[in-house]
Amino acid sequence: MATNFEIIPGDPQSSVILHVPHSARFIPADVRSELLLNDDELLEELDSMTDSRTDEIALSAAEKSATKPWLFINRFSRLVIDPERFPDDREIMNKVGMGAVYRKTSTGRDLRSSNFAGEKALLDNYFHPYAQALEELVSSRIESTGVATIIDVHSYRPEQHENAVNHGQKRPAICIGTDKFHTPITLADAARASFSALGDVYENEPYAGTYVPLKFYGLDNRVKSIMMETRSNTFLDDAFDFHTGVDLVVEGLVKLVSQAEIQA
Ligand SMILES: [Zn+2]
Repeated sequence: MATNFEIIPGDPQSSVILHVPHSARFIPADVRSELLLNDDELLEELDSMTDSRTDEIALSAAEKSATKPWLFINRFSRLVIDPERFPDDREIMNKVGMGAVYRKTSTGRDLRSSNFAGEKALLDNYFHPYAQALEELVSSRIESTGVATIIDVHSYRPEQHENAVNHGQKRPAICIGTDKFHTPITLADAARASFSALGDVYENEPYAGTYVPLKFYGLDNRVKSIMMETRSNTFLDDAFDFHTGVDLVVEGLVKLVSQAEIQA
């Protein structure tokens, strides 16, 4: 089984992990064969659902950071498994068929057959090993530095997906996702200041929350977490090429990494 994630080590004294869950498009052939879309439809779905080029933003920000953060990157498409969804009934997106293993597309079509029986295998092969590895990376940062700060790096499309639970919300240049327990107010403030050059910044709108490994969730305040969701047209043109805005996104992330290290 190919490993679906990549860990790029940072500096030993860094407490920051840049987590990039949705930038990849790769789908293994056996998983691809179970999707109900033809190649053109799949391309369109990947264009819509992928946080395109956010891995490059995280890598660039890491390179430019005085203290290099650790990177944890999903190298498989979220259409294989979505590591940020709960793998059980807690997941609100289950009600639109988009839990940890998507049954529906972003337009509400069937992505997998209604009698698809491969969900457990996908969770066992990809979801659980990923979650375990990220949990271990967080533990290792706590052992080394006393705390771990996850910065969850995303982007989102300017247009609302039809099949969604967040209709009618603002779609700002930057959305900061926070958690009452795991996001200190000082960290949220630092994120707002770091990205203000990009335009309007909203908290938990249109996407709420931030990733914390379940072992620590609501229990261990040495684990801090914050999500950045950049609206994709702040740094990409319609052909998914970078425009000049990418420098502001990378600079903003460098600032946030630096603040997170200082606050650690
Ligand atoms: Zn995302």
